[in-house]
Amino acid sequence: MKEIILIKNGELALKGLNRSVFEDTLIKNIKIALKDLGDYTVRKAQSTIYIEPENDDFDFDGALTAVSKVFGIAAFSRARVCEKNMDDILSAAPEYLEETLKSIKTFKVEAKRADKRFPFTSPEISAAVGGAILSKFPHLKVDVHKPDEIITVEVRDYAAYIRAGQLHGAGGLPVGTAGKAAILISGGIDSPVAAWTMAKRGLKLDAIHFASPPYTSPRAEQKVKTLLSKVSEYCGTIKLAIVPFTEIQEKIAAECPEEYFTLIMRRMMMRIAERIAVYHKCGALITGESLGQVASQTLPAIGVTDAVADIPILRPLIGSDKEEIIKISRKIDTFETSCLPYEDCCTVFTPKHPKTRPTVPLCEQAEAKLKVDELVKRAIENTEFTFID
Ligand code: ATP
Ligand code: MG
Repeated sequence: MKEIILIKNGELALKGLNRSVFEDTLIKNIKIALKDLGDYTVRKAQSTIYIEPENDDFDFDGALTAVSKVFGIAAFSRARVCEKNMDDILSAAPEYLEETLKSIKTFKVEAKRADKRFPFTSPEISAAVGGAILSKFPHLKVDVHKPDEIITVEVRDYAAYIRAGQLHGAGGLPVGTAGKAAILISGGIDSPVAAWTMAKRGLKLDAIHFASPPYTSPRAEQKVKTLLSKVSEYCGTIKLAIVPFTEIQEKIAAECPEEYFTLIMRRMMMRIAERIAVYHKCGALITGESLGQVASQTLPAIGVTDAVADIPILRPLIGSDKEEIIKISRKIDTFETSCLPYEDCCTVFTPKHPKTRPTVPLCEQAEAKLKVDELVKRAIENTEFTFID
């Protein structure tokens, strides 16, 4: 028996002239996701991508899991390959679908005849396959309106394919088709979710993390790497910049009014992140901020952080509740890691009473004693890069 994975494009179908670029990127991303799972061939035809294992060593279940994490896929399924003749189809269908058919009460067959030379029409194929199934599984009934399962038979160019139902794909757009952006990643719950959310819209990701040893521990850094490796299951390899931030935080603590510590720290982060991002050809920064979640995420606070950056700052979670964010973090399996208790640099030197209505002139005044350019330059010079996958 020969089994394959059938993949249906998502929003891709809408993209008109760009469609082939999108499809090619999607296929490239599928190949990356399947790279360690064995030998197979890939074909595409009419909004469908076919993954055909070349031998029994192919990790079929692993491939289904990997495919479920590739953005740009609307739906996918496993399917049985048949000869393009009715005898083969009629004997294969009940046998291949046995497990499913035993566990349901009603079904419907949908046949699609893409190869018009096949000597039976779609309704004829449906009727014949339905009959073959009913004779092997007499407990079943046909229900064309609300069946427990839809059995699909597609007669295509090279073969016929039989499948039961299909699984939801990850949706979104293929990573890389929307350009590249840099996620500011902390060890918290929000930023990995923000990263995933933007990768879903087709962005390739770089990441930037600010570390303040000895105030933050190597375990905090490892936590960030673990989080990114979970996100990379969806978006491929991520280049991570680890920026040394201790000197800057100590200077802020020594030379700026306490109520501005967090705001000035965030402005310094944005200045550095923007430079790194632009140098590495990222078109935007991404943060995990959510309006009103903490004092540094009020509208005025966001305003004074935005003021230091010229490239767009994307905040995909700005309108999300914590509960909604946690739901995604569980789905992408970052939640438990995010909950590990290692300190982030944001929790060092936090003011007891953060400034509530900051303005740009007030922040500029508060940070006047800092040698901003010099500090930014030194932090970037000492930044280290690693690749996470
Ligand atoms: P998270 O759960 O992502 O840590 P948070 O609710 O704790 O977010 P903050 O600590 O105020 O919020 O951080 C807001 C955003 O700033 C984060 O989502 C992240 O994008 C960025 N950020 C915070 N700390 C760091 C850091 N150490 N390195 C890089 N980016 C950071
Ligand atoms: Mg945080």
